[in-house]
Amino acid sequence: MRRIYLDYAATTPIYPEVVKVMLPYFTEAFGNPSGIYSYGQEAKGAVEEARGKVAALIGARDEEIVFTSGGTEADNLALKGVAFANETKGNHIITSSIEHHAVIETCKFLERRGFSVTYLPVDAYGLVDPSDVKKAITNKTTLISVMQANNEVGTIEPLTEIGRIAREAEVYLHTDAVQTVGHIPVDVNELGVDLLSMSAHKLYGPKGVGALYIRKGTKLIPFMHGGEQERKRRASTENVSGVVGFGKAVELARQEMSQEAKRLAYLREQLIKGLLERIDHTRLNGHPLKRLPNNVNVSIDYVEGESMVLNLDLEGICASTGSACSSSSLEPSHVLLAMGLSHEQAHGSLRLTLGKWTTEEEIEQVLDILPRIVAKLRAMSPLLKSHR
Ligand code: PLP
Repeated sequence: MRRIYLDYAATTPIYPEVVKVMLPYFTEAFGNPSGIYSYGQEAKGAVEEARGKVAALIGARDEEIVFTSGGTEADNLALKGVAFANETKGNHIITSSIEHHAVIETCKFLERRGFSVTYLPVDAYGLVDPSDVKKAITNKTTLISVMQANNEVGTIEPLTEIGRIAREAEVYLHTDAVQTVGHIPVDVNELGVDLLSMSAHKLYGPKGVGALYIRKGTKLIPFMHGGEQERKRRASTENVSGVVGFGKAVELARQEMSQEAKRLAYLREQLIKGLLERIDHTRLNGHPLKRLPNNVNVSIDYVEGESMVLNLDLEGICASTGSACSSSSLEPSHVLLAMGLSHEQAHGSLRLTLGKWTTEEEIEQVLDILPRIVAKLRAMSPLLKSHR
């Protein structure tokens, strides 16, 4: 059976070109970048070249990029790093109620350490209202963290406006850009952000490597203590092959991004239109226009998301009910609940995220198979029977 992978927001396969450039750093070019002999300097050179590529993609300076073990660590470093470094100024943080768990759980940890956190509401599309950000700022606020685009419903937030508000109030602004970097244009100066999280495995790079952009002058303390790597902002020997792979993935994304975004947005619209036409009692989650080019998220009444995912898997189609991290839990998505969906609607949600190897033919196959699965599940559904 040919498999159809539609969970690119959870992770992406690595480009063969990326694997190719990584391989020498496991074997002949294995040196520690801290070494002053040639092996070390070769590895250091490769790390610095990758840093330059990542910086160039987001309009940053090389020295403003700190490599991490992924998006989660970047979020943790941004939030804890700024919160603890600026404690004497204040203990208030503003975030949204639809952030990834890497931000939400870090905020909860900070609350247990005496910080106060405002979780801003969102509208029915998942949009944060910039005026709510403005109203929430107090003289104790040190950090605002709002994601650039949501990983479950694909809504793109009004970050430029939030950036203006943050600058005026002289409050640091962090954004989790894990779902946007390499997919849509991201420029730290246009957005007006001071910190920005990225992850390589969402853009056809390796897992276990990411980066945090930290604007020059931002007051931040590291939470990894040890050696002096990454200009003393993140101790530990650099993941040289991972970083090199990240750099290559970024380079390829830069070349292909605008064409690929157009292609995916077209396929996305085909899929959304087809699903809404072919399955009754279905609604699109997230904003219809301010949306990631590859994200489709629907709620289908009278069926469980998990049942759809398992039945799609039997047909060789990989999909998800929400974010990768919450898909093993049966709790309804905090994102959908924050957008005002009922528990039933949230439980009946399905996320299909497209990518590099998605074809029009695959979309047609899904549009053929999914309505049949829904009809079968509904025929057995106690949810539908109790509604009749
Ligand atoms: N932030 C967002 C928006 C994500 O989608 C993810 C991954 O699902 C992360 C953070 C975590 O990234 P990583 O898996 O690299 O730790």
